[in-house]
Amino acid sequence: MIIRKSMAELEKMRRSGLLVAQILQELRGMVKEGVTTYDLEVTAEKMMQDAGAKSAFKGYYSAAAGAKFPYVLCTSVNSEIIHGMPSKKRVLKPGDIVSVDTGVQLDGYFGDSATTIAVGSITPEDEKLLEVTQQALELAIENAQPGNRLFDISGAVEKHVVKNGFSVVREFVGHGIGTSMHEEPQVPNYVDRNSENPRLKPGMVLAIEPMVNAGGPDCHVLSDKWTAVTKDGRNSAHFEHTVAITENGPWVLTRPSSSRP
Ligand code: MG
Ligand code: MG
Repeated sequence: MIIRKSMAELEKMRRSGLLVAQILQELRGMVKEGVTTYDLEVTAEKMMQDAGAKSAFKGYYSAAAGAKFPYVLCTSVNSEIIHGMPSKKRVLKPGDIVSVDTGVQLDGYFGDSATTIAVGSITPEDEKLLEVTQQALELAIENAQPGNRLFDISGAVEKHVVKNGFSVVREFVGHGIGTSMHEEPQVPNYVDRNSENPRLKPGMVLAIEPMVNAGGPDCHVLSDKWTAVTKDGRNSAHFEHTVAITENGPWVLTRPSSSRP
């Protein structure tokens, strides 16, 4: 069942969304040569504590991993797609791209967003990878309109990515979000004829999150049971926003400049 939210609930989700945006903006400013992914973790956790928010990730139980996730961030560098774990040993170096994904729960409601950040100057291919993934997310958001269907979002991502010679990850997808981190529906980044294609209605809130590989779509999970990496070792990018569908169009809850439509 897809849970639709009232405007009062969307206002609460906006507060969570803005906190997530603030954290990612702070981390974006920190990322440079010599910084570790654990340094990012420490800053993010402090900001959550100061805001009276709970981490959406730390303590999140995964049946596949058979464990709870131990950090407030997922930091996924280069060929790591998602669910990378912050580490004091992971020192960022020029040419890296690092996906930083985080979520909070504030006043009962969740916000979830991710961005991929370049460390120093990166290859032209990685520049294009980041640009195309970001554009794919924007195209998806434009399609988050009442009356459209879910696959208008999925198809917008897939089409743009494929057109540019990259591939979308299929094993991991976006999701509905609200009083739980993961709600229905699943939001694939490709048109999945075997899954449902619900009509989009006001009050639905979706975490839309294209994960785009420079090479092939295949991935596998490392022995830490969390970190998903590309099978061919080529790089991957990830951008995400929490998006509310309103009568008047999309409201990007995790983007400060997006006002209520
Ligand atoms: Mg996320
Ligand atoms: Mg998400």
